[in-house]
Amino acid sequence: MIFPNSPLTDGQSMGYNNTAMYYERKINMKSKRRLLLFIMFFLLPVTLNYFSPYVIIDGLAHKLLSAAFFVWLLMFLSSLFFGRAFCSYVCPYGGLQMTVDSVIKKPLKKMRWFKAVRYILGILWITPIMILTIINAGNMKINLLYLTESFVSADNIYKLIGYYAIVTVLMIPPLLLGKRATCQICPMSILNVSGTKLRNVLNLTSLRLTADTVRCTGCRQCDKACPMSLNVSEMVKEDKLDSLDCILCGECCSACGSGVLKREVCSRGQHANISMGKEL
Ligand code: SF4
Ligand code: SF4
Repeated sequence: MIFPNSPLTDGQSMGYNNTAMYYERKINMKSKRRLLLFIMFFLLPVTLNYFSPYVIIDGLAHKLLSAAFFVWLLMFLSSLFFGRAFCSYVCPYGGLQMTVDSVIKKPLKKMRWFKAVRYILGILWITPIMILTIINAGNMKINLLYLTESFVSADNIYKLIGYYAIVTVLMIPPLLLGKRATCQICPMSILNVSGTKLRNVLNLTSLRLTADTVRCTGCRQCDKACPMSLNVSEMVKEDKLDSLDCILCGECCSACGSGVLKREVCSRGQHANISMGKEL
């Protein structure tokens, strides 16, 4: 297989026999990621409460730390080392949107109010969580199965109706506004956006998107592939790969036939062209 503008030594320099093997691996990883995300969506009737802000707040009001509390904490902490990869590998709502996107293939209608809605909703949820955590600090018990005693979130008809209601509401943005529109306003993302921001400020060694900018041909295949509708080719051109909206899915890396883009474990400023990081 010939990859346009792709130096044949690329794959070899990374331990693969040839460039075809290198790209084959990328495509395999892409399929595995999508499968994982779909499984997370499929399991949502079971796991719904483990992601629920309502369960966190209700638990804290009763001086209880639910599983959802720890999932949210983990989401924030993981973003210090994996950026927003939670959104592309773990989030069941990301899986829901990926499933809708694969059927309707609608480009995102970019709206100016997306970010404002995200931050308003995020603050409305996170403020009571923080206040209740501070008020009850040192006086709380752990109850991971709070409101989910049977392990399964939707374990009766009313909860099942609630599950379908949530899924229906969350399907509306991608159906009306295009791909991953719910991500654009997702209040949960405020956690990993702030973690990613903190990671950038502290310049921690973490999973990052990097680019060998000089190789870019400007074909814009990366723009088409990006599920978050980022202008990736422009990011490459300006050498600004640290967008807080990038969920580190790697779709742009697989789409780029010139081997420009990579995901690497490195700190800011260590680029693919100097290969100082460990590529994923
Ligand atoms: S980075 Fe994007 S625009 Fe540049 S060569 Fe790769 S796919 Fe094309
Ligand atoms: S820029 Fe690349 S890694 Fe980031 S969200 Fe878009 S396709 Fe995924």
